[in-house]
Amino acid sequence: MGIYEQFGVTPIINASGAVTRLGGAPMPDAVLNAFNEAARASVPLEQLQAAASKVISEATGTEAGLVSAGAASALTLGTAAILTGYDLGRMERLPHCDGFPNEFVVAREQRSGYDHAVRAAGARLVEVGFNEIVANAGVRRTEAWEYKAAFGPNTAGVLYVYSPTSRPPLEELVDVAHRHQLPVLVDAAGELPPRSNLKSIAATGADLVAFSGGKSIRGPQSTGILCGRRDLIGAAVAQLLDMDDHLELWNPPASLIDKTTLCGIPRHGIGRGFKVSKEEIIALLVALQLFTSGAYDEEVSKAHARLDRIVDTLKNSPVTCSMRDKGDGESLPLLEIAINEAAVGRGAMEICQSLRNGVPPIYVSHGGLREGKLLINPLHLTDGNTETLAERIRQELNP
Ligand SMILES: *Cc1c(COP(=O)(O)O)cnc(C)c1O
Repeated sequence: MGIYEQFGVTPIINASGAVTRLGGAPMPDAVLNAFNEAARASVPLEQLQAAASKVISEATGTEAGLVSAGAASALTLGTAAILTGYDLGRMERLPHCDGFPNEFVVAREQRSGYDHAVRAAGARLVEVGFNEIVANAGVRRTEAWEYKAAFGPNTAGVLYVYSPTSRPPLEELVDVAHRHQLPVLVDAAGELPPRSNLKSIAATGADLVAFSGGKSIRGPQSTGILCGRRDLIGAAVAQLLDMDDHLELWNPPASLIDKTTLCGIPRHGIGRGFKVSKEEIIALLVALQLFTSGAYDEEVSKAHARLDRIVDTLKNSPVTCSMRDKGDGESLPLLEIAINEAAVGRGAMEICQSLRNGVPPIYVSHGGLREGKLLINPLHLTDGNTETLAERIRQELNP
């Protein structure tokens, strides 16, 4: 009996990829072994985060970095750092920001449930731009001048959600923000691969960038990366680490926290509830090394072969299969199965539900259901479970 069965939980076939609600990405053996080994000794966490900072700064081309409890946590920590700097009084008061600037300007079209993480630190979001294209009421996206027009005495920073199609371009926004001495915090949680994004997003001059550690990097699901300006990373880590020490004894590595700029030791900060374990930090660093070395690229062709087998199994079913492939040699392909709902007599939503209800439960990616499409993300597929997955889908389509 497997470990999940021992606790009465049935493992599923995950065809949805690194989604959080299904437990994230599969961790490579090297990452799991590192986790295990790290668990066997104790280390001071500020020294470990300083070592992490070195690895992350090399991987991202930034001054410094830290391992957070996910990208959302990195956004809360980054926001907190921008709100407080090294001001211990402000650190103590978060998430209440009475008496100091706490507005973050953000494009209305970049709002999402994830910005709760920014608001959680105490920031108030000020929206600019419109969703005119989605509303079918115009042709323009958010423009840089709109941010500038929103800046005022209460502005603390800018939040930007990165994607290759985000507008205005990040460089342009960084330029406008920096002209007003305002820092830019970037949510790039899911923007890997390509691994060039590790460096190119920060190279725009963005002050802080957040990545997920548990998506394509394949570290522990509960890890993330915050990287950027050394002073801001210092302020963030001071609000993350356990701070119960004597000032005379407290000796954080200067590369991480500049103790000379502090008038004392902060109390436990707003990030204390987002603590990251030594094992998670080490595992994330090993995963990051694998990711940056291109070790995952060899899985792209294997994923293609597995998806081709599914297409082959469905060749006589009332579906149209097509492969979505960025073709960058790093990103996994995605199989799109468009269902002829009239011929099958059931909709994609219903089929998705019966796949989940079957044995073993199968969770396909649900992003295309309203368009009558099942999406298959091959991240968790093996030669073994691909056969089962393909056969189960075939049965659902030919009842
Ligand atoms: C996944 C994601 C997050 C959250 O990342 P976690 O590492 O799960 O905390 C935040 N923002 C965006 C845009 C994401 O896609």
